[in-house]
Amino acid sequence: MTEMQAAQLICPGEPLRIETLAVPEPAEGEVLVKVAACGLCGTDLHLAVDGDLPVEHTPITLGHEAAGMIASLGPRVTNFAVGDRVAMFPAAFCGTCRFCAIGRESLCERSKVYGMARNGALADYVTAPACSVIAIPDEVAFDIAAIITDGVSTPFHALRSRGQLRAAEAVAVIGCGGLGTHAVILARMMGAGKIIAVDVQNEARKRACALGADFALDPADKDFVRTLRAKLGRSGVDLALEFVGRAKTAELAIRMLDKTGRAVLVGVGMDKPSLPPLAAFVGREQSVLGSFGMNKADIVDLFALVAAGRLDLSASVSARYPLSQANDALQHLARKEVGVVRVIVEPGS
Ligand SMILES: [Zn+2]
Ligand SMILES: [Zn+2]
Repeated sequence: MTEMQAAQLICPGEPLRIETLAVPEPAEGEVLVKVAACGLCGTDLHLAVDGDLPVEHTPITLGHEAAGMIASLGPRVTNFAVGDRVAMFPAAFCGTCRFCAIGRESLCERSKVYGMARNGALADYVTAPACSVIAIPDEVAFDIAAIITDGVSTPFHALRSRGQLRAAEAVAVIGCGGLGTHAVILARMMGAGKIIAVDVQNEARKRACALGADFALDPADKDFVRTLRAKLGRSGVDLALEFVGRAKTAELAIRMLDKTGRAVLVGVGMDKPSLPPLAAFVGREQSVLGSFGMNKADIVDLFALVAAGRLDLSASVSARYPLSQANDALQHLARKEVGVVRVIVEPGS
């Protein structure tokens, strides 16, 4: 096999072009992965539909949420073999900088995100640094492994690694799309107390409740805080996760906190949220934290949870498309229909 198909971004905001390219050669320390499944997410919509995210160069193959089988090894790769089932960390990290060294791989100083700075996995084959691919347990299917690498590990990182969720704590999830939906499922699995879903869409609120939220609130509700306190039986939550990336919702996350509460901001954008008066914020010992992506350990632990039967993500794959229909898959996600959690592209299908 010397040629392959790849879905490439030629011009941001325009449909992807399905191109025939040479199968890439893995460089020293890299592996070549035959892609079995690649999830799409909001980032892909920003790149290929809205065109409001920068890419380092074009044409570039999109796809940063992938799993497959090792097809060949570059020089000096000893910890994997051809045929191994692996998932890819969403960015090619270096493995040696001071952030990689302490297991904070999403903060890598030489990180290259697939589909933005390096060719991604919406292709039959993709190369990746061996240090940044993760073995998949036999019990975990390729499509589930793929969505875990970003769509599930991002909220898990926010809940566990950044939010330090402890059993019985009250959790608010603001923005119940793909990431928020998984946050509700994960918070429940992790032993959260009351879980409150916040979304402007009635259908999204209903779905969050069906997946385990105890009640849902509309941020447009004029009595929002009063309703929250009445339903919760206390003055706020211990942990509020923000997945929208807007000043208003970030401020809402802080407003929902009890004393000692942590607001974890996951959504990104150029908005500038403001803090409450210092007397209130300091006097309540509250925290505001950023949460960017995931650590490799988050993905490894999620694989173990799915393999052990503790976490069921089978309802998260909403649709599957062959690589030749990558644009249809993007449009499916762009319609933002309620009930669509993750859309998967399966090269080779
Ligand atoms: Zn993503
Ligand atoms: Zn690094």
